[in-house]
Amino acid sequence: MRKKQFKAESKKLLDMMINSIYTNREIFMRELISNASDAIDKLYFKSLTDSSVGLAKDDFEIFLSVDKDARTITVSDNGIGMTQSELEDNLGTIAKSGSLDFKEDNENADENDIEVIGQFGVGFYSSFMVAKKVEVVSKAYGEDTAHKWTSEGADGYTIEECEKENAGTDIILYLKDDSENESYSTYLESYTLSELVKKYSDYIRYPIKTEMTHSVPDEEKEGEYKEETAVETLNSMVPLWRKNKSEIKSEEYDEYYKNKFYDYESPLSVIHFKTEGQVTFDALIYIPAKAPYDYYSKEYEKGLQLYTNGVLITEKCSALVADCFSFVKGIVDSADLNLNISRETLQDDYRLKIIAKAIDKKIKNELKKMLTSDREKYEKFFSTFGVQLKWGIYANYGAEKEQLQDFIMFKSAALDKYVTLKEYIEAMPDGQKDIYYAGGESPEKIKLLPQTEAVRAKGYDVLCFTDDVDEFAIQMLMEYDGKKFANICKDELDIASEDEKKELSDKNESAKEMLDEMKSYLGDEVSAVKFSNSVAGHAVGLSAGGYMSLEMAKVLNQMPGSEGKMKAELVLEINAQHPIAEKLFGLFAADKEKLKNYTKLLYNEARLISGLQLDNPTEFADMITALM
Ligand code: ADP
Ligand code: MG
Repeated sequence: MRKKQFKAESKKLLDMMINSIYTNREIFMRELISNASDAIDKLYFKSLTDSSVGLAKDDFEIFLSVDKDARTITVSDNGIGMTQSELEDNLGTIAKSGSLDFKEDNENADENDIEVIGQFGVGFYSSFMVAKKVEVVSKAYGEDTAHKWTSEGADGYTIEECEKENAGTDIILYLKDDSENESYSTYLESYTLSELVKKYSDYIRYPIKTEMTHSVPDEEKEGEYKEETAVETLNSMVPLWRKNKSEIKSEEYDEYYKNKFYDYESPLSVIHFKTEGQVTFDALIYIPAKAPYDYYSKEYEKGLQLYTNGVLITEKCSALVADCFSFVKGIVDSADLNLNISRETLQDDYRLKIIAKAIDKKIKNELKKMLTSDREKYEKFFSTFGVQLKWGIYANYGAEKEQLQDFIMFKSAALDKYVTLKEYIEAMPDGQKDIYYAGGESPEKIKLLPQTEAVRAKGYDVLCFTDDVDEFAIQMLMEYDGKKFANICKDELDIASEDEKKELSDKNESAKEMLDEMKSYLGDEVSAVKFSNSVAGHAVGLSAGGYMSLEMAKVLNQMPGSEGKMKAELVLEINAQHPIAEKLFGLFAADKEKLKNYTKLLYNEARLISGLQLDNPTEFADMITALM
């Protein structure tokens, strides 16, 4: 029999398949099954109008079988089959679809190209990633003779007549020998095949069957087990997302989520919708109840599973979800996409952009609904993923800030619970100009700040900023509903009445000499020492003078490369009403040495209150002991 040569481009591709060092070889199964399913589709549609086909919907199936001794896997279908010339045309030439894009520049194919192939498939030829020889035995519907196509790879193929009873195709893979790096034998285990079907082909519309062996209790010999073999259907066929919403119970959605995304907690929300129009697709999106362990790390990859016609294209399509919603899990299925689509093309595909936009809108609507109708749930959501929304405000130079500003919340110092910016403003008493906030480790710590006490004494609430991103997000927002944000630990805090301000500035004016002297004791540590109204009943507090707040400096200092380099400009604020003020005046007149010590003590106290470390804790402790 004469050996025929593959077309030139097919040969190249085939070479790559055979020699590929690609690790994701298992996708060959997905490719063969999807071809089988396509072939069944064709005959099934024919059967709808042509009764001589003699098959009902339930008669169609894909059957997987293995022969461990011969090291073969066979994928059989009772679909449309191929004639001799179809075998030539279809299997002798590279597939016409997406792989063509790839063909154009495969001259210098490297590992990355192979990665692309592996991810998106090149159809039938992927068999050669695991098989040293492939036979295709096929009988086209309506033909009398069957044909066998055989190839051992790049050196060509043969076609001969053979026996086959019914229309359809058997693809027989003769597995490669196991090597150090690759165990092909694993594909001979029905367990492996069953896993592969679940992973890639669970929603193929026709049953994918195989013989499975289980050990079951032996009825004759008590306490013993015996092996039992039975034909099982491996795929679940109807995807949940294709079913009607009204037919799906919420437990069903939850169970599905837990199995599919390996979570043991039910999701917080389910968004299930279908869109027809420019792009037709089904989407099933979940908001998890808790963050995956690696969520706030670099390793975490966002994305939704992307299917076309029930066949998985990619496990994590990141183009489908915005960064601020990177926590969602789910599935998109669109018949408008093509299985053989390369990764690059996929990212730029206009259809994906349309889908992504629709998903974004749905997530926002869902969150809005949750916020207004199920506050408890929203707070649970926010305490888990709120940081991501705040990052979303800050990211991309605030491109999304208007869209996201109503979704963020902060703990209120007055109410001890989460409030939105809108709620904060609605609760503002007459006369309050700004939205007040303070940064700190926890709301409890923030409530203890002298400044919080002073602002609260005026009847104003303070928002507690406890996440690193908070102040950065707010600076990006600049204002909310016309109200500016004010850090109460900033030098310019302005809560006093005109009279109080006048009194204070007089006091600072007349004490200028002493305050400058005190500042000189502290050197570069502070930019000023002054009397203030912002520390409530306490003796001292620290505020930040320049652009950078104390909390921002802390955050920035944690970043690699800038450890300890970021310094907020500190102002030591002394309570003008506190007895300590008189004491200081006394010392300034009579005992400068003691004034110096007291200044250092007060400064260190203020640092402790603000949660800053002391440069020299031992000296501080010694000075206090000396006072005793
Ligand atoms: P694609 O599926 O993208 O067309 P493939 O390389 O997977 O590319 O398959 C090439 C062609 O071979 C198919 O288009 C189909 O015509 C034919 N083919 C493959 N497998 C079968 C099968 N099991 N039954 C009938 N035709 C098949
Ligand atoms: Mg195919």
